[in-house]
Amino acid sequence: MLTRGPEHGVPIAAQDGGSNTGSSALDHVVELTRSRDRALVESSLISALMDLLGAREVTIWHLVPEGTGTPTWRRIAQRLAVDEPASTRTVDADGLPEDRLPEHLRCLREDRAVAQPVAVDGCFGVLLPMGGELEGGGVIELVLPQPLDERDGRVATSMLRIHANFMHLLDYSERDTLTGLLNRKSFDETFMKATVLEARRQYVELAQERRTGQERHQFLGVIDVDHFKRVNDVHGHLIGDEVLVLVARIMRGALRSDDRLYRFGGEEFVVLLDASDETGARAAFERLRLAVAAYDFPRAGHVTVSVGYVDVRPGDTPQAAFSRADQGVYHAKAHGRDRVVAYAELVAAGVVVESDGANDIELFE
Ligand code: GH3
Ligand code: MG
Ligand code: MG
Repeated sequence: MLTRGPEHGVPIAAQDGGSNTGSSALDHVVELTRSRDRALVESSLISALMDLLGAREVTIWHLVPEGTGTPTWRRIAQRLAVDEPASTRTVDADGLPEDRLPEHLRCLREDRAVAQPVAVDGCFGVLLPMGGELEGGGVIELVLPQPLDERDGRVATSMLRIHANFMHLLDYSERDTLTGLLNRKSFDETFMKATVLEARRQYVELAQERRTGQERHQFLGVIDVDHFKRVNDVHGHLIGDEVLVLVARIMRGALRSDDRLYRFGGEEFVVLLDASDETGARAAFERLRLAVAAYDFPRAGHVTVSVGYVDVRPGDTPQAAFSRADQGVYHAKAHGRDRVVAYAELVAAGVVVESDGANDIELFE
């Protein structure tokens, strides 16, 4: 349900009939398109469907491509009618293989509503395709006190269409047009959010993670294509562009679905990923480096990347973390390229000296 502050102005008349409990469809459209934070947008969509259709449960599922493996269903957000609005949560890190939810798959493939048996007494389940350009696709699962009639079906479909259009606009502003990866602007925003969460985790969750042996840290990697100027000079800019698109695709395929890969500019990329420790992070960056090195590029042949990485500290700025990781790239370039170098190993070896300010680094080479 919406909480309406004075900035909303005069409330628009509530829609008549149905299970509507107060806010109109237009109120929900305003709410849905208010924020650029995807979690909040998903949450607003769920609120709208609960309010406009009287849904008992709403779950958003995404079918996530997993590199070369089987795509998996992940619950992106779920809310039950008994929950407070604030408890909309991101669930399921692991997901289910696509064939474990055959009805969901049918809804997605046939692009139509599919009735779904539900465990909740006297309720009716329905799956609706989310539409839009989400890679893999998405399905929304509703548990309703009544079957979905034509009017409610139209309301739900319209809300989903507005949601998909808005997500498309967000994608457009956050993505690089050549490679389709996230762009630099979205990196800065995500990074700040992630470090605030990381700082909170340090206090709240780390002790628990340590006890269960599931400690996670965030790492930032900077990736720079080796001798890329040569690719342009020898084969021309168009082939250079093709190499960038392929490098982006290969790296995306070598990463896990919740790792974030950005094109930072030119032939430079950034990855944000979670790993249990330095060794885990190195393994991920080595996998990425090797995947590029092993690929036979149609015209350019063999292409390699140099990688520097660093653990993200609570309170880090994007610039500070980037500049530490970039020292690793600098070192890799000076030592033959096609390699992964941790900032921590440079500090341990006395190659760089860190003073109090994380930005303030001296190079001894
Ligand atoms: P190093 O191994 O030291 O990184 O050498 P490099 O040649 O990759 O480095 P340098 O930074 O000198 O060259 C990067 C080149 O990338 C220069 C620029 O023309 C090219 N470039 C930047 N953006 C694009 C793009 O969008 N498309 C193409 N085709 N080339 C680009
Ligand atoms: Mg460069
Ligand atoms: Mg380069």
